[in-house]
Amino acid sequence: MRALVIGNAALDETFEVDVFPEPGQSIFGRTGPRGLGGKGANQAVMLGRSGVSTVLAAPIGNDARGMTLRAALDAEPIRRHRIDLDGVATDTSIIMRSDDGDNTIVTTREAALALTADMAIPALSDGAEGDWVILQGNLSIQTTEALLRAAKARGMITALNPSPLQPGYAALWPLLDVVFVNQGEAEALEGAGTLLKAGVGQVVTTLGGAGSSLSDLKEDQAFAAVPVEIVDTTGAGDCFMAVALASSILRGRRTLDGDALHTAAAAAAITVSRSGTVAAFPTATEMRTLL
Ligand code: ADP
Repeated sequence: MRALVIGNAALDETFEVDVFPEPGQSIFGRTGPRGLGGKGANQAVMLGRSGVSTVLAAPIGNDARGMTLRAALDAEPIRRHRIDLDGVATDTSIIMRSDDGDNTIVTTREAALALTADMAIPALSDGAEGDWVILQGNLSIQTTEALLRAAKARGMITALNPSPLQPGYAALWPLLDVVFVNQGEAEALEGAGTLLKAGVGQVVTTLGGAGSSLSDLKEDQAFAAVPVEIVDTTGAGDCFMAVALASSILRGRRTLDGDALHTAAAAAAITVSRSGTVAAFPTATEMRTLL
């Protein structure tokens, strides 16, 4: 089983601040980590570091930021399906992290939105029936829907993290085997039950320090988080999702179980105890001790 991640890659610039600036205010901050980010890249990196054979198809601009991103991705244990865009800016996130570990993020998504279905669907040829197709909320709804329909037609297993939320997801639920949402997203989508009744196979709801739950039409199971001192929660949800999927994929499973969510919680706990996004994720060596 392979993982095909089709999503965004962004250059993350982190600034550390005591408190967030008010509108109209200028403040001093400190330089934080700069490097690989974007939900697609984050999840692909964690799948790869977990030992899953992983392909990332992410649209990246042919600019200076794109060169930095490509070099960072090439240092990770994943394969890149190249989607290099002329005349489109590489996506960038400006992250402000406060002393208590909270963060605010602004992400551009010109490159993510430039990815049309025609450009994205050929990436599915890197996999075959029974492989997992893993998507996030940064692409356009049209491209996401076309990818899911094409993946299902090929007998692939589908997972989505609909974050950031956008209108139009309801039509996608019948095409999804697994959906990951955080607490705010679950509430906005009217709960895991709504998604399950609409046709999603399993819903994972992450609840920050309160852990996670795994729901299908038969039952809801709750799982604790691993208590740690919080430094930076950026990317925790991406790390959690990728490791939960990796645990299942490495065991050749088409569904998630409690083991997958326990391993995901242990990996996410490492991430939140360090600063940065991919820079804070568990290394391949650390993942070998968790899996
Ligand atoms: P997101 O970052 O997508 O909003 P969550 O905040 O729900 O997602 O976090 C995802 C996972 O990261 C949680 O289920 C948990 O395993 C881990 N995590 C997040 N915050 C904490 C915390 N304070 N303590 C321990 N683990 C945490």
